[in-house]
Parts: sequence; C-alpha cells; structure tokens
Amino acid sequence: MLIRNCLIVDPSLPEVDFKATAKTDVRIDGGVIADVAPGLKAHSSETVFDGDGLWLMPGLIDLHTHLRDFNQGAKEDIATGTQAAAAGGYTTVVAMANTVPPIDSPMIFKQLQEMIAEKAVIKVLSVANVTKGMAGQEITEMALLSELGAVAFSDDGLPISNLAVLRRALDQARAIGTLVISHPEDRDLSGSGVMNESATSTALGLAGVPTASEAACIAREIEVARITGAQLHFAHVSTRASINLIERAKADGLQVTADTTPHHLTLTDTDIGAFDTRFKMNPPLRSQADQDALCIALKKGILDAIGTDHAPHTDSEKGAGFNAAPCGVTGMETALSLCLERLTAAPGNLTVLEVLRKFTSAPAKILRLPEPAIAKGRNADLFLFDPKATWQYDVKSGQSRSKNSPFDGRTLTGRTLLTLSAGRIAYQYEPAMDRWLSIEGLALK
Ligand SMILES: [Zn+2]
Repeated sequence: MLIRNCLIVDPSLPEVDFKATAKTDVRIDGGVIADVAPGLKAHSSETVFDGDGLWLMPGLIDLHTHLRDFNQGAKEDIATGTQAAAAGGYTTVVAMANTVPPIDSPMIFKQLQEMIAEKAVIKVLSVANVTKGMAGQEITEMALLSELGAVAFSDDGLPISNLAVLRRALDQARAIGTLVISHPEDRDLSGSGVMNESATSTALGLAGVPTASEAACIAREIEVARITGAQLHFAHVSTRASINLIERAKADGLQVTADTTPHHLTLTDTDIGAFDTRFKMNPPLRSQADQDALCIALKKGILDAIGTDHAPHTDSEKGAGFNAAPCGVTGMETALSLCLERLTAAPGNLTVLEVLRKFTSAPAKILRLPEPAIAKGRNADLFLFDPKATWQYDVKSGQSRSKNSPFDGRTLTGRTLLTLSAGRIAYQYEPAMDRWLSIEGLALK
C-alpha cells in the first residue's frame, strides 16, 4: 500500500512547521512502514491512497477504555469497542479490568486474551485487577498476571480504600516493574452524590459529589506512592485541587502520573440541563475553573495524558432517570477532534503536537511502551486525519454499540478517514473510498 502526498504529523519529533513541511509518500508492506520519501513510484501490485490535504499520524493510544464484553455484551464488546476506537484514530487501547466477571485471575485473563485475539480490530492491552473480586482486600496474582501480559493493575470503578492493601500492591508493582492505576475517589465523601457539588446541584435538587472526594483520595495515595517508590497513575483527574497535589508530588520526584478526559476538558456541570443522563459520569463534570485548570495542567505537563474513560451503557440503563442511571459516557470517536479544538485555544494554548503527545508519547511512556513514531521499519499503526473536515457527530451512525454520548449533534473539526493497525485497515470512512487509486489513477470503487 502506498499513501501519497500526505503531511506527516509525528509527535515524536520536536515540532512541525505546517507551512514549510513538504508532502511525502509512505509505503506500507508486511505490516510495517517500508519507506518514507517524496515521489515514491507505485508497484504494479500496490494500491494507492491519495493523502493530499491529510495528516498521517501515529495511531493514538487510549490508556483508559471500557470494552465490556463477557456478560455485558449488550453495552459493548471487543469488536464494537475496537471499531469505535479505530474510527477515532486509535490503534491501541488499554481495556480496564472492572468487567463482569472482573479480570482478577490468570484463568479469566487468558480467556480475555482469547476473546481479544478473535475480535479486536486494533491492539488491545489488558489491565488486571489489583484485588480479588475488586473487593479491596486480597491482592491478585500480580506477578503471574504481569507475565501473562497485564500492562497495569487497577480496580478502576472503585478506589482501594485500605491503604495497607494499596501499599502491598504498589510494593509488588515496583518489584515486577509495572504500575497501579488509581480511580481516585473517597466513596464516603461522594455519598449518594450524582453530580458535582455546586450551585447547579442545589438548583437541580441533586445530591453533589464534592471536589474533595477526588482530591482527598489523591492526597492519601500520594503518601503511599512516596513510601513505596512505585509508579502510581491517577485516572480521570477532574479538579484543580487534585492538580495542585499532583504538581507537588511530581516536584518531590515521585513516580506519579495522571490523565484527564475529553469530556472534563469540554463540558461543565451546567451542561447537564434537564437531567440529561448522557452528562452523568464519575468523576462528575466540574466547574469552568476546574476545566481551565485541567487545560493549563496539560500544557505544563502536570497532567501527562488524555484517556477517554469510554464507558458504554445501554439506552434503557441510561434512561433510568438521573439518580438511577449508571455513570459513564462513550468517547473514543470524538476525543481527538474535541481536544484539538479545546486545547489549542486559551487557556491551554497547546500546539497540535503537544495535544497529540497526550494521546501518543505520553500514554506510551506511562505504560512503558515504545514511543509511537512514523519511520521506516516501525509498525504500521497509523491513521489519516482530515484536519479541515467539519462534520456533525451523529451517535447513531457511530461504531460503538452504545449511544450514550453527550456530544451527539455537536459540530466537530477534523475527522479520521483511514486507520491502519499493523498495516491492515481497521477503519475506513466510507466517503474516503474515493481516495483509493489504482496505479493508473482510476478510482477502485
Ligand atoms: Zn474510574
């Protein structure tokens, strides 16, 4: 396969001067990038994709995805979840372990790997649980699970409230060279809260979750990271108070990393409107001041990465009313467009490459994976993105089995046209079929 006349936008490089950079061709053969140069001649057996006006980028890495499957296939399964990821430009996702059943034993972990091999259209990395049954008491066989391929350990969905258990897990993680991903929340402080505790929750008559629920947990867990020297990653950070704690922990030289989500970067608690459950997630949408602090923290590197926390639920579950509906929103298909728009503007003012690094180099570093890059000999995990395309997101035509997106109907700029996983087409936007050319320059369709 030959991709012609594209602009390489590679976050592993220092910066890109969009006006001065020349278009180039990229040949993909046997699942790897075989050549990168302008004016490559097409072989007779080769199909050619016209990349004119498009950015070619290393595939994104989502370090926080819920693919469900097992007993929750009505929400999502590995096939539909990875198709949704590919449609968003992702070529690697990290599947969280709070499935039904949870990924807390080598047997279930192996079963999961078989399902991934059978169904995934992109690379799926698996998290295993920290504690058996996610009960927060007894540590799983972490060393064995790590040997089987677990990239990290987490009871995401639930915090590990017993700090002695967290200490044992972090000690073990350090010994085997892995990390623990924390879902930072003090469940007593969250109480029966269903949205951010604010003037809006009072006006709506809904029970609130204070920002202290997240920050207090982060403060406690940072001290356990300090005494163990282990890597602790905080998922879906949503508050300014949390950022201040993480900034200090990093200044102290601790191995603490953190991500935030596209929805916390683009929505606030006032968007809930008339009890719209598509805006119910955990942690909840916060204030504008919190959101601005997240953007600035990404620019400063206090927050390392962006993870979607893609959390599919069925229409009937989400239709149960604001108090009863489960938390979570889908997000892989809209993440990059939303974040490029939000973060390249004030108050973050990130460059395009800085935004991309939050989806590529940064999650790779956190997970101890090779840094994604576009270069000869590298795996062809790539996607072509039309940076100028303006389109309206229609959740019904999306790839995810679930439709619980707060961004349905939103106008987005920038769209994934083609995603390759190890050189194979994992996603193709139908109208982009026009861009396939035979070597004679004829459209194939
Ligand atoms: Zn979580």
